[in-house]
Amino acid sequence: MPVDTPTRQDPFATLNDEQRAAVEHGVGVAGRIEAAPPLLVIAGAGTGKTMTLAARVARLVLAGADPQRILLLTFSRRAAHEMARRAGRTLHAALGFGAAQPAPALPWAGTFHGIGARLLREYASSIGLAEQFTILDRADAEDQMGLVRQERGLASTEKRFPMKGTCLAIYSRVVNACLGVDDVVRDLYPWCLGWESELKGLFRAYVQAKQQQQVLDYDDLLLYWQHMMAEPALAAAVGARFDHVLVDEYQDTNRLQAAILHGLRPDGRGLTVVGDDAQSIYGFRAAEVRNILDFPARFDPPARVLTLDRNYRSTQPILEASNAVIALAAERFTKNLWSPRGGERPRLVTVEDEAAQARFVADDVLVRREGGLRLKQQAVLFRTGHHSAALELELTRRNIPFVKFGGLKFLEAAHVKDLLSVLRWVQNPRSRLAGFRVAQLVPGIGPAAARKLLDAMEQAADPVAAMQAFKPPAAAAAAADWPAWIAASDTLRHGTWPEDVALAARWYQPHLERLHDDAAIRAGDLAQLARLAGGYPDRERFLAELTLDPPEATSDESGAPHRDEDYLILSTMHSAKGQEWTAVHVLNVVDGCMPADMATGSAAEIEEERRLLYVAMTRAKQHLTLMVPQRFHVTQQRQYGSRHLYGALSRFVPPPVATLFDQPAPAADEGRPPAGAQPLPAVDLMARVRQGF
Ligand code: ATP
Ligand code: MG
Repeated sequence: MPVDTPTRQDPFATLNDEQRAAVEHGVGVAGRIEAAPPLLVIAGAGTGKTMTLAARVARLVLAGADPQRILLLTFSRRAAHEMARRAGRTLHAALGFGAAQPAPALPWAGTFHGIGARLLREYASSIGLAEQFTILDRADAEDQMGLVRQERGLASTEKRFPMKGTCLAIYSRVVNACLGVDDVVRDLYPWCLGWESELKGLFRAYVQAKQQQQVLDYDDLLLYWQHMMAEPALAAAVGARFDHVLVDEYQDTNRLQAAILHGLRPDGRGLTVVGDDAQSIYGFRAAEVRNILDFPARFDPPARVLTLDRNYRSTQPILEASNAVIALAAERFTKNLWSPRGGERPRLVTVEDEAAQARFVADDVLVRREGGLRLKQQAVLFRTGHHSAALELELTRRNIPFVKFGGLKFLEAAHVKDLLSVLRWVQNPRSRLAGFRVAQLVPGIGPAAARKLLDAMEQAADPVAAMQAFKPPAAAAAAADWPAWIAASDTLRHGTWPEDVALAARWYQPHLERLHDDAAIRAGDLAQLARLAGGYPDRERFLAELTLDPPEATSDESGAPHRDEDYLILSTMHSAKGQEWTAVHVLNVVDGCMPADMATGSAAEIEEERRLLYVAMTRAKQHLTLMVPQRFHVTQQRQYGSRHLYGALSRFVPPPVATLFDQPAPAADEGRPPAGAQPLPAVDLMARVRQGF
């Protein structure tokens, strides 16, 4: 039988009644779409919310909806791709498409920030924004805040003014939560009380600096979009482009995002949102769980609400333990989950310390692989990026390939930032941060000369002409290198995509070699960047989307695994949202890590940590193991250094909950010194070495 023989089947046959109701909502008897009233699906983990949303997209397209007019908002770009793929597969099955026939594209599937960036660019001329605006990532935004803070003399105040990172955090909170500076400082940053008026002045100057340079930070993408939606004519124009707006993980949206949706769909028609209040884990970024709880009443008539409680992901014993953890939450709307699938009980494994934990997990993962479970079906989850350090060492030692999500970002490496800054500066010659970085790559140009150049460009009507007319310092090197930059930037300005990235890398290569001893390794990253560029239609989209949702995977030193290779998943709990694996290990389920030391300030923060553990546990399909190292190392705030903590099982697993787990007796651990070995004496070798001089 030829592979491509179309076969038609009912892709909705496996849906349960509630899922089907959500999928069919607003689809008339004749299969035509009516102007559907707003719909909320609020349901627990693994009940098929995301699957239902994807099926609904497919159903709408089958009923005649234009995929170009469907706006699908998800939490990450990865999630958007996954959703488009699922919807495509459903359509394939329904329409009997052959495998060679591409599924209809969903051009408007993405994150709030990514879609915001695209819409702002399209409407730039109507809202006084320069079309070539570039986007600052968090680190750049912090630097920009730092510059303004310095310019305003706040860096040298007698009583210490908040650091640039804190200033940006306050600013971001003000924007995302739609609150005043006074409220945010009082409730969340009480140690900054007394600085409110300076902060307001600083924020005004920060906004002005960004506008002058035609750069937007992450928060601006939502803020400007929301302002655009508050303008009736623009809201109507943007709203009219979409017939259906669907949002996944709605519990993690903030007030600004809710306002945007409301502006897009004032009466809620055509709006579908799904989420789970018990999985709300972004309160620290101003996500507002009331968004989902208050959604129905926001509209008149109120939104239709559907709930799901059958879980299709996990076994009943895993669900019982997860239900018990979340049952202790102060408040929650979604109900307990159930599944007809039985299986082994989850495990609570106590080990001596982090090294033993790493060995245990590595052993366990290998045993499962021997048993036929691919590494990709196994994940190790942890509270913060550095909690996996010991495990990463162990995996590397044993040659177990892994990919880590939510850890150090590729884009934070100096050479990657350099190359992206070249592209950004060419895109937006008014961007001072990009310009400052690139100009100083040219030998002979230091901070003072760079500032002079940027001032000249800022004041000129044509910044590019000002750059070309700039006389670099007489330093011999600059004479040859500066014209090389001018020539390269000129080529890039009129270049072609995606070849531009390789062109920029060619200009950068001698500087890379001069600045870094390990230039060859770093050049590999730049080649990867050039490859990535091929996946984007143009420079604008590449820069915007890479900044907004950077590739997060970093892997062991043997290099990034190829796509078809097998590798273990390491992920922060936050980045694990929405995903599932057959076997899951959760590291450091001890007080101090879970809840995290830094998050034990308020009852609300502790509740958020509890939900985070619930999110982690509900990722597991068949095997779930919570690890409890009795001793672990925590790095505290810089001034206190680091220390060892003697861990107690997390307060989220009190004795009655612990009875739902198997608790195997600690096995002999080969990495431990043999029983009876004398403890080694503590010797201050450092002091001895110092005394030797
Ligand atoms: P989360 O809250 O973690 O995001 P979710 O509610 O979005 O979870 P999904 O990821 O959509 O849940 O689904 C969980 C798993 O259950 C997936 O593997 C999905 O394919 C499967 N599933 C959902 N509904 C059904 C169904 N009716 N029949 C069979 N499998 C289903
Ligand atoms: Mg989901």
